[in-house]
Amino acid sequence: MTDNPQPLGGNELPRFGGPGTFMRLPGTTSLDDLDVAVVGVPFDLGTSLRPGARFGPRGIRNDSILIRPYNMATRAAPFDSLRIDDTGDVATNAFDKNDSIDRIDSHYRDLLDHDVIPVSLGGDHTIALPILRSITAKHGPVGLIHVDAHTDINDEMFGEKIAHGTPFRRAVEEGLLDCDRVAQIGVRATGYAADDFDWSRDQGFRLVQAEECWHQSLIPLMEEITEKVGGGPVYLSFDIDGLDPAYAPGTGTPEIGGLTVAQGLEIIRACHGLDLVGCDLVEVAPVYDQTGVTTFTAANLVYEMLCVLPGVERRA
Ligand code: MN
Ligand code: MN
Repeated sequence: MTDNPQPLGGNELPRFGGPGTFMRLPGTTSLDDLDVAVVGVPFDLGTSLRPGARFGPRGIRNDSILIRPYNMATRAAPFDSLRIDDTGDVATNAFDKNDSIDRIDSHYRDLLDHDVIPVSLGGDHTIALPILRSITAKHGPVGLIHVDAHTDINDEMFGEKIAHGTPFRRAVEEGLLDCDRVAQIGVRATGYAADDFDWSRDQGFRLVQAEECWHQSLIPLMEEITEKVGGGPVYLSFDIDGLDPAYAPGTGTPEIGGLTVAQGLEIIRACHGLDLVGCDLVEVAPVYDQTGVTTFTAANLVYEMLCVLPGVERRA
């Protein structure tokens, strides 16, 4: 038996009751005693079209009651292997985007003063910028696996330098990324110029448009991607709109022709063995989620991230 913090089991208290933390974790463990912190970032002041991702953390936590602790596909035992707890939400400023970014930055710097891997529940994709700033302050420039319908490398949006479509442009400018170890997967649809995606390629990113993923397993692709991004610390940023709106309609800027849930799982499971120093799951906006499938899927993807963190054992 382990004394690690454990999700509350459905045989101890029915799964429709109990705490509102991710997977009904205790939510009380000191940061000094943790390996992994699940953090909510309720923020959507960086969205350009449909807001609502401020309710993402609450929605993901709510549907995480459906998840059990052991992974039947990979035999991963994350809660036996690592000390994982839900450390609550960042106190964002509902009235001020830039102050919120500073608050997120300072929250993550405090977190990373402790030896924890942050797994973040967004929030819109703007949050990746302050998180990456804090992570690279500790680990140096990181490799990146970025799953998204969009490249999020705009120079500005409506004159704003910080928004949910700009975090990876700023990250490059600020030296947060090891550009030879970056992959963007699932990007697609329409842009404001035909060469919109070329800026990513010019930085040395491996850009995988959704069409390259259609109708096939992504296991071979991920062998190439993990080879490219490995060899140093890696951050995984998963925008739920990388998935097709058939599976994830509850998001602000959906695009047709996206990844399947199985492909999303293949991407995350292939990260096993990488030196992951942080992960996020962003852009879940429950208000557009007519059936609840988006929050349910997102909660499971966050669980799958926990299953591939360094130190997680796979039971024989
Ligand atoms: Mn995004
Ligand atoms: Mn997106």
